Amino acid sequence: MKEACGVFGVFAPGRAVAQLTFDGIYALQHRGQESAGMAVSDGQTITVVKDMGLVATVFDERTLSGLHGHLAIGHTRYSTHGSSDWNNAQPAYRPVGRAGFALGHNGNLTETESLIKRAGMLPGMTASDSDVVASLLASEFSERGNEERAELAGAIEAVIPDLAGAFSFVLMDADHLYGVRDPHGFRPLCLGRLGAEDAPEGWVLASESPALDVIGAAFVRELSPGELVTIGAEGVSSRQLFDTDEVADRLCIFEFVYFARPDTRLHGVEVHGARRRMGELLARQAPVEADMVMAVPDSGVPAAEGYARASNIPYGQGLVKNRYIGRTFIDPDHQARMNAVRRKLNPLRDNIEGKRLVVVDDSIVRSTTVRSVVKMLREAGGAEVHLRISSPPFAWPCFYGIDTPRRSELLAANMSLEEIRRHLDVDSIAYISLENLKEAIGAPGVDFCDACLTGNYPVPVPVSFGDPEDDGAIGSAALQAALPGV
Ligand code: SF4
Repeated sequence: MKEACGVFGVFAPGRAVAQLTFDGIYALQHRGQESAGMAVSDGQTITVVKDMGLVATVFDERTLSGLHGHLAIGHTRYSTHGSSDWNNAQPAYRPVGRAGFALGHNGNLTETESLIKRAGMLPGMTASDSDVVASLLASEFSERGNEERAELAGAIEAVIPDLAGAFSFVLMDADHLYGVRDPHGFRPLCLGRLGAEDAPEGWVLASESPALDVIGAAFVRELSPGELVTIGAEGVSSRQLFDTDEVADRLCIFEFVYFARPDTRLHGVEVHGARRRMGELLARQAPVEADMVMAVPDSGVPAAEGYARASNIPYGQGLVKNRYIGRTFIDPDHQARMNAVRRKLNPLRDNIEGKRLVVVDDSIVRSTTVRSVVKMLREAGGAEVHLRISSPPFAWPCFYGIDTPRRSELLAANMSLEEIRRHLDVDSIAYISLENLKEAIGAPGVDFCDACLTGNYPVPVPVSFGDPEDDGAIGSAALQAALPGV
């Protein structure tokens, strides 16, 4: 599973906004490692710098020192094969109006064919759904060029309510920063403040709260599903872009399981604590006699710590991770993926030998990683391997901004629990229940998107993406062929 994009924006006259944006998207690097970019406005001109690669590769001191202004947005992108090129790097820019506008997108739209027609784009012309939105906004924006209210806000209000699917956007024109979330709030977006509450020096938007922390901004609140926030010299204003019956909070539950940084707060809950509680509840739900609890690093670590604490089995390290291998490695086939796992993880033989191991991981999608891990642990002398997974079985593809395999490649969609146990060659296996997962998150009254676990898609999946039951027509390959994700 691959996350798909981090977004950031800052309005701070008198501050070095390019440096703040660099720090912000650096903190969001885990959400996308294929390309990085930022757009900076000085009120007259918007300058865009973007390229393939990690944030620290794309930007250096020399690049940043040439970017001056009071307002900026930034983006880190993950895409799948075939669409990873410079043209799709963001922010997307359109030279419309006084200085043009720029946007950064996290998510995936689900009804784009009609939007492509409305934007006057030819099929095949577009590289991504973010491009479609940029083109729609550009035509709306240029039509409003002579109106008194010529800023981007009018175009946003006209275009965004017609979009379907998952989107958290940051946008900017010469003078304003905008943030908007889809009416289900699939992807996170929060507002922060620079300076004191009674004397703000600037405002910040970010996918995750650590991007506020690193630049010294205070967390103010999460944007509500369907909300548009407009930030400018006059301050911060907000309006709901969608009808009440269209709005239903459905933050992606996998932000808690895997995607978000452990130090991120979502719905008032710190992700690390939620992951630790997942492990604790999993230990109560699926206990086993063992000598050591270990994690598949890194995202399995908090749940493994929780499992160890609740089971009174010592926690230990069984695998060493090579931290210098990026997530951009393209794995063309199964063998190459197995080799990639071997390159990334190596067992600690002395810790493992002769021990009954509880191995905790956050999810099983295809099974490549976990199969390699189990094989490694057995070869290193592990006496027993008991697998515990801190998410329920992942049995349905995601259409809301996460790159997942087609249903035929999802292990849990095609095997019973016992078949999975035998396939992975483990002594026992258990997944946390959905009820326990939600209890571990501990955000009472909050509902989540859990479509990849239940098949209950909050936003209908259009026919052009195929029938979710028909594994030949869906999944990231078909999705990407139709519209490369962002
Ligand atoms: S389908 Fe799964 S991964 Fe996609 S948004 Fe919903 S919970 Fe998240």
